[in-house]
Amino acid sequence: MPDLVVAGAGMAGLVAAAEATARGARVVVHEKGSRPGGSMLLSSGVVWRHRRFEDFRRECAMGVPKLQRLVHERLDADLGWLESLGARVAQRSTGNPRTSGVRFDARSLTESLARHAGEIRLGEPLRELPTATPVVLATGGFQASRDAVETWITPEARSLFLRATSWSTGDGLALGLAAGGRTTGGMGEFYGRNMPAPPARIREADFVPLAQLYARLATVESTTGAVFETRTWSEIDVAQWTARQPGARATYRVAREHVAEQVGTRTIGEMIAAAEAAGADVRRGPDGVDVPVVAGITTTLGGLAVDETAQAAAGVWAAGTDVGGISTGGYSSGLAAALVLGRIAAASALESR
Ligand SMILES: Cc1cc2nc3c(=O)[nH]c(=O)nc-3n(C[C@H](O)[C@H](O)[C@H](O)COP(=O)(O)OP(=O)(O)OC[C@H]3O[C@@H](n4cnc5c(N)ncnc54)[C@H](O)[C@@H]3O)c2cc1C
Repeated sequence: MPDLVVAGAGMAGLVAAAEATARGARVVVHEKGSRPGGSMLLSSGVVWRHRRFEDFRRECAMGVPKLQRLVHERLDADLGWLESLGARVAQRSTGNPRTSGVRFDARSLTESLARHAGEIRLGEPLRELPTATPVVLATGGFQASRDAVETWITPEARSLFLRATSWSTGDGLALGLAAGGRTTGGMGEFYGRNMPAPPARIREADFVPLAQLYARLATVESTTGAVFETRTWSEIDVAQWTARQPGARATYRVAREHVAEQVGTRTIGEMIAAAEAAGADVRRGPDGVDVPVVAGITTTLGGLAVDETAQAAAGVWAAGTDVGGISTGGYSSGLAAALVLGRIAAASALESR
């Protein structure tokens, strides 16, 4: 019999399994998908925190301060731990002056964690909680369940673009609630990106390069003529607004003088050209460019409530996107929260035996 069962071989689950294995435990990781890595493998691999805790609190004001403090204070040491497992650092900065952190190569991150995680059973989802073994739920949220997204987030759920794996359908949330856990606030919130609207074709490898990240320099209009002014640097507010418009669609109108502007590592013109090349119905006129977008959902932000030991219910711990209450009201790094709470969950679950 294992000492610990982990549901999910993504960021949080693999971290928990590697931590438990390092503590000498026998771990079995159940993975629903056909490969390890979950959405982590598709990610940009930037594991980050706000430079100042006050900024984290201000931007994610509805989150639980004690959990946020844990992520903020432990992240730097936990980044060193990840590196010690062999995860390859692609860049020792986030490229964003508001934040600090590290960009890992997502494949190397997945492979190095998987090497240290004990037994991983691919294609074997956890469907029931074990009766005599502690469990860490790390199934990656519920963004891939259209029904759950419709219930909690938007009536336009069926029009949303899923910018994540298709396996995270809320299994951890359901198991945690059945065990007596409860949900956090912010169940209607998600982290996402506006993406080129159909007929654009978007493959997994395009999730990062096709994100349209210039709402603050565009006029954003829905099909009913509603206009949204984005307020956040991360532009997750505009994705959440678009998700609630008819067909989860909007149009970005970019004035000619903004097209050459740089946003992050690319110009707006380059992002538009990528959308056009993917087949989006981009319209160019003398005054500027119109780009049709659809809201893409990457991770849900509400989830199971946990205490500072990452416990959600008797015998049940949780980490990663299955846990809510960290980014509530704004956005913070999902990989960072998965890393810090994944380690805490494993340590607490083993201590409970
Ligand atoms: C395109 C993209 C870019 C991103 N960029 C960044 C970034 O740069 N920085 C950042 O911080 N975050 C980023 N993210 C978000 C980040 O990937 C997630 O926050 C992180 O992966 C969450 O970790 P997790 O373990 O909760 O979920 P995941 O890594 O998705 O792992 C969940 C795993 O659980 C499995 N699972 C589901 N149900 C079951 C079940 N019943 N039993 C067993 N297994 C199950 C899934 O198949 C999956 O493998 C990005 C995401 C995407 C898609």
